Amino acid sequence: MSVVLDVKDLVVDFKTRAGNARVLNQVSLDLREGEILGIVGESGCGKSMTALSIMGLIPNPPGRITSGSISLDGQELTSMPAAKLRAIRGNRISMIFQEPMTSLNPVFRIGDQISESVLLHQNVSKKEAWKRAVEMLELVGIPEPAVRARSYPHELSGGMRQRVMIGLALACKPKVLIADEPTTALDVTVQAQIFDLLKNLQEETGTAIILITHDMGAVAELADRVSVMYAGHVIETGSTRQILDDPRHPYTRGLISCVPHLEDNPGDERPYLEEIEGVVPPLTELGTGCAFAPRCKHVMDRCLTTNPVIGRVSQQHSVACHLLKEKELA
Ligand code: SF4
Repeated sequence: MSVVLDVKDLVVDFKTRAGNARVLNQVSLDLREGEILGIVGESGCGKSMTALSIMGLIPNPPGRITSGSISLDGQELTSMPAAKLRAIRGNRISMIFQEPMTSLNPVFRIGDQISESVLLHQNVSKKEAWKRAVEMLELVGIPEPAVRARSYPHELSGGMRQRVMIGLALACKPKVLIADEPTTALDVTVQAQIFDLLKNLQEETGTAIILITHDMGAVAELADRVSVMYAGHVIETGSTRQILDDPRHPYTRGLISCVPHLEDNPGDERPYLEEIEGVVPPLTELGTGCAFAPRCKHVMDRCLTTNPVIGRVSQQHSVACHLLKEKELA
C-alpha cells in the first residue's frame, strides 16, 4: 500500500508563561492508502496537536512548527501558502472533532452546511451540492435524509450530529480523514454505532483514517496499525496485533493493562483495574532523559540522561526505549 500521508521528524513548540513547551518532538508516522491508523495515549501526549499540525490549524502565535515535514501525496504542507492549504483542507484532507455541537454552525441547516463545503471545493451547481448533501446524510445513516437536511443542529441527537459531522467531512471524498476522539461526547451504545460507521465508510470509500483515541478497545477493533504517543513523542508503532500481543514499551504495556478484562476474573463483577502511576509531566519541564522515566518500573541510570531513539523490533514494529537493546523485554 502506498503512503498517502508522511509525517517526518515533526517538532512543534508553544510559547507559554512558564517557558517553551515542546508539544511535539521528532514525531514521525505514516498513513497508507485505505488503512486506519490508531494514535493512542493519555490526554496531553500530543495526539490532537499532531492532528492540528497536519491540518495546518496550530494557532500561531503562540504555537509554531519549528522543523520537520508533513507530506500529503508527495506535496509538502508545512511550507504551503495559507490559501492553498485552505483549498486542501476539507477537500483532500478532513477532520472530525470531539464535540459536533461546537463544530456545526447552530444557525444554518445541516444540508446547507454540507452543501457549502461541496460548493467551496468542487465545481458543481447549488442544486447538485444539495443533492450531494442529502446523499451524504443517507450514507451516514440519517433516516429520511431529504427531510433531515432541512434540520438545524439543535434538532438532532448527539449521535446524529456526529453522523452529520462525518458526512460533512467525507462530502468531498477526502484521501485522509482525521477522527479526533469522535465518540467522547456520546454514550456507549452510540459510540459503537459511530465506530461501525467509520469502519464501513472506510471500506466503502477507501479513505485512509487516522483515529485518535484513548480507547484501546476501539483501536483493537478498528485500526490496522497503531502509534503510541507519550509527552509529545511517538514511542511505539506497529500493527495492531504487534502492539496488543507484543507491546515493547513499558508505557504501551501500561495502557493495555489498564483495559478491564472480565474474562480474566470469571464471576467477579468488579475486575481489578491496573493503573499507570503518576501523570504526564508538564511539557515545559521535560529534561534530557526519557520522559516516561519518573513513571517507569524499569528505569535505569541512562534513562535519566539520554532520550531513547526509535529502534526496530521488526520491519513493521518500532519502539523508543533503552530496554530494546538490553533485550530485557524479549
Ligand atoms: Fe523506562 Fe528507560 Fe524505557 Fe524510558 S527508556 S521507558 S525509563 S526503560
